[in-house]
Amino acid sequence: MKAAFIKSHGDLEQLKIGELDAPQIKPNEVLIKTEFSALNHIDIFIIKGWPGLSLEMPHILGSDGSGVIKEIGSAVTTVSVGDRVTINPGLSCGKCYFCLSGKQNFCKNFSIMGENQWGTFCEFFKVPEENALLIPKDFSFELAAAAPLTFLTAWRALTTQANLKREDFVLIHGAGGGVSTAAIQIAKYLGAKVITTTSDSNKKKKAEELGADYVINYKENRDFGKTIYSEITKKKGVDVVLDSVGRDTFQNSLRLLRPGGCLVSPGATTGAISEIDIRQIFWKQLKVVGSTMSNQREFREVMTLIFQKKLKPIIDKVFPLNEVREAEKYLKEGSQFGKVLLKIN
Ligand SMILES: [Zn+2]
Repeated sequence: MKAAFIKSHGDLEQLKIGELDAPQIKPNEVLIKTEFSALNHIDIFIIKGWPGLSLEMPHILGSDGSGVIKEIGSAVTTVSVGDRVTINPGLSCGKCYFCLSGKQNFCKNFSIMGENQWGTFCEFFKVPEENALLIPKDFSFELAAAAPLTFLTAWRALTTQANLKREDFVLIHGAGGGVSTAAIQIAKYLGAKVITTTSDSNKKKKAEELGADYVINYKENRDFGKTIYSEITKKKGVDVVLDSVGRDTFQNSLRLLRPGGCLVSPGATTGAISEIDIRQIFWKQLKVVGSTMSNQREFREVMTLIFQKKLKPIIDKVFPLNEVREAEKYLKEGSQFGKVLLKIN
């Protein structure tokens, strides 16, 4: 089958297109003929590699994907050959204490599609049966591939972890990213007041169209923290910050929270090491919570809202599989608004 893979870690030049054997399924797994895959920042981190990441090469990337079930394992009972599906990209053992408690993303063996097992940037990929989710008839493969990773991440972060409520002020950094475009919609769905930031006037308009109440251009407004604190929240501070930016924004996020507010961190795209003023945390009695992917219940909750068209994945651009390197470069440059997809078939 045709696949996008790496043979060693490094820069985007390591990403190659070539022929590999399709994966062999186990009794509890299904083989999916891919229609669309979606890019995520984790692709770039995996290509680069990190200490402790040891992959068998060649390695196929890709965490999100949709398609048609081509083959099922002997123990599979809930889906059939020919079913249209998307996937939960979070993989866990299914047997440990955490998995049995419905906390799959706490599993010692938790990993993401394309991280420790071959991903979706290829003509056929496999997942355990419980990770396949049927797509309604009137729902496109394109939207079904665009949604899972970013929406389940934003859903868990804002609901379970940050407990965002109606009328709360929530600050979502960087309006154009996949998690941010999901989070803006989810926050509005929950009845919160959304403040978001961008450096681009075109993205500002698009964020407003998505429902953001306040969109701040941080290149034009260097002192945007003051705008948020004094003008928007009337010196109260924000109730919740969703900070997936990390190093560049973390300290400012803590500063902008009201006493008792919550910073939720689902990632750190600009860097993971940051200096913070710990007084902000104890004096204001802040909650700083992490969030990684989601459990199966949260995945299904948010996908139901997407299938009901209450939340809509935003697709910026679709590339053919052959142009995967250009697609990753485009994602890395950060000029997109929403998801970047690969069309496989
Ligand atoms: Zn487990």
